[in-house]
Amino acid sequence: MNFNDFNFDESTKQTLQTIDTLNRMPHAIIIESKDKEKSLELASFLSMWAVCTGKNKPCGICEQCHKAKEKAHADIKYAYPEKKSKTYSIDQMRDILKDSFIRPNEANAKVYIFEEADNRLSAVVQNSLLKLLEEPPQNVFFILLCENSKKLLITILSRCVLLRIKSEQKFDKFAAQSAKEIVHGILSAREYELLKAINTLCDKEKSDEILSIVKLILRDGLAILSGADCIFDEELGKIISTHMTKSKILEMIELTEAAKSKITQNININLLATWLCGEYRRISWQR
Ligand SMILES: [Zn+2]
Repeated sequence: MNFNDFNFDESTKQTLQTIDTLNRMPHAIIIESKDKEKSLELASFLSMWAVCTGKNKPCGICEQCHKAKEKAHADIKYAYPEKKSKTYSIDQMRDILKDSFIRPNEANAKVYIFEEADNRLSAVVQNSLLKLLEEPPQNVFFILLCENSKKLLITILSRCVLLRIKSEQKFDKFAAQSAKEIVHGILSAREYELLKAINTLCDKEKSDEILSIVKLILRDGLAILSGADCIFDEELGKIISTHMTKSKILEMIELTEAAKSKITQNININLLATWLCGEYRRISWQR
């Protein structure tokens, strides 16, 4: 596979490479990501791969690749709900299913892409798609994009390969690392650890992003306690959920938000760091 011009994380690349090596591109793929652009990028990559006539697919230079990239390929269809509707109708899905049995126009494959599948495909419509996924036509690929694959029917999930793109990728690496250290510091019994981690906020360029990620990680802890999905870091989320109550986590999220707004007010960042450290510890240790 040719990943040039594409920016995927390592685990996504490895999964794709394995599929390619085994020559087993699944007929139905679910791409799950909180980042719609990332999902679309991967969908575009897969559709190019499906129609490419080059050797190292997707070559990015053949006519098929170009058309796929420009969303102008006759055999690659992005399904959109009909006007004024937020979901796909059953008639629309029937048309798509019928269409999928017609031979491709110019490539050797056909691709159907459904954006926001978790919101736009009702259970009835998913069921009609299901029949097709059980016995898919040759060289036809269905790609479902979603934020939360758990909202899709289990029967659909079981017939699709799930590709998950982690959200962490879109954050600055330094900021993500600092945020994780701050959370570890909050959970640590030693004040020094938190103080040291919080000092990274002194990098004014990064401080706002670091705190945004701290909030995300705390939210993950809350998500686990509420049975919801993690967005950023499931592992850390789990640790938080075993160490803190819901109300403590909520208080910390509010505190982090307050610190974020203080940064925009040009407060002395050293003072802010000391204050924040004390407040995190106060919440941590209160009964
Ligand atoms: Zn190509």
